[in-house]
Amino acid sequence: MHELSIVQSLLDLAAKEMAANGLAKLLRIKVKYGGLTAIAPDALEMGFTALTAGTPLAGAVLELEETPVILRCGKCGLEFSPKDASGRYGVFAPCPACGEEIGHAVAGGKELFIEYIEAE
Ligand SMILES: [Zn+2]
Repeated sequence: MHELSIVQSLLDLAAKEMAANGLAKLLRIKVKYGGLTAIAPDALEMGFTALTAGTPLAGAVLELEETPVILRCGKCGLEFSPKDASGRYGVFAPCPACGEEIGHAVAGGKELFIEYIEAE
């Protein structure tokens, strides 16, 4: 399950950050993930619960926020965030300005990072 390794690396980062600041108890971790990362938030939360159980990180709140996919039209340069009928972000969509359907550059949506952690 690829979410488990993601959670592990997020926890490693958080632990490093806490150690650097002399903090021992993780309260909250806010993670932003792009709409193109193919992350299942449920799986991420389950992985978080599983990996923190019985550790000093247990009980911390994992907050997830999806960041939009941003495409830049290869023809007119417009940046837009396409969503399909089910509300998911996609990379194949016509440009709302000129109708071009191919050659869009991905300008956002692949990122995954910790926005902040709260610890004490
Ligand atoms: Zn266009």
